[in-house]
Amino acid sequence: MSIKLEKITEASIDKKNEVMRFTGNKYERFWRARGETGYWEVLVRRNLNDNEVEEYLKLLEELQCKKVVDSKSDEIIWSPKPGDGFSVKGGYSWVRRGRPGSPTLARMYKEVRECKIPLKVKAFLWNLFQERILTKSRLARWDPMMDVRCVLCGETEETATHLFILCPLVKQVWRWLAVAGGVGCPSGTLEELWLEGKGLCATGDRSVRAKFTQIFVPAALWSIWLIRNHCVFQGSIPYAENIRESIVRLVTDWGIFCVGAKSACLVNGVFMVHE
Ligand SMILES: [Zn+2]
Repeated sequence: MSIKLEKITEASIDKKNEVMRFTGNKYERFWRARGETGYWEVLVRRNLNDNEVEEYLKLLEELQCKKVVDSKSDEIIWSPKPGDGFSVKGGYSWVRRGRPGSPTLARMYKEVRECKIPLKVKAFLWNLFQERILTKSRLARWDPMMDVRCVLCGETEETATHLFILCPLVKQVWRWLAVAGGVGCPSGTLEELWLEGKGLCATGDRSVRAKFTQIFVPAALWSIWLIRNHCVFQGSIPYAENIRESIVRLVTDWGIFCVGAKSACLVNGVFMVHE
């Protein structure tokens, strides 16, 4: 593991500022068992730089299709179909389908990697889609006395779905985006938002729709998280306007992106596509 994740390991040992320590197979320490199933929770102690984030994403991708089982002794199994064992037909369909794990998550992971956005935002999105973002609702598992109310509206428990989609303040932002870019207001889960986002964009050009989703949706989710953190840690008062300003700034910073012969950009807060 330390060979594969050279940059993270180097950063932790040389600077005596441990991010993660991988010795032997001790990365099991990031496995959270839940009965028969469980999930990976790879926490870091400081912000990672771009190179480290790339390795971090690779690590998460590798761990995605693995799990730690304590209750059984070691044996060789065919992981796509543990009960049936290996067959040529099963092997062929596994190769065609791609790596094991949730096909939906695998597709989302691929799309996140392809986004033209900073690596740290990709890492954030990937954690968000795997429900690993430390919302108050998650933190309350370790601190049951914690006030779990959403800092933006002060009304409901701060789960990821509430914070990024259902919160009344955030809904104002999605409504604004609906006007700016023809994006419909999301009402379901984050997964639906991501996977159906392209279908919500008003322009008929599929590649423009894809680019729109690859920049605007990440900018919106990242901005909500930044403003939320500012409110939690700096005690600032939440305004939908601040989130909107942040989205416009990020989309501008991340670039006026090209789609074939066309380019798309924000003009006075409105999403425009030019020939
Ligand atoms: Zn709220």
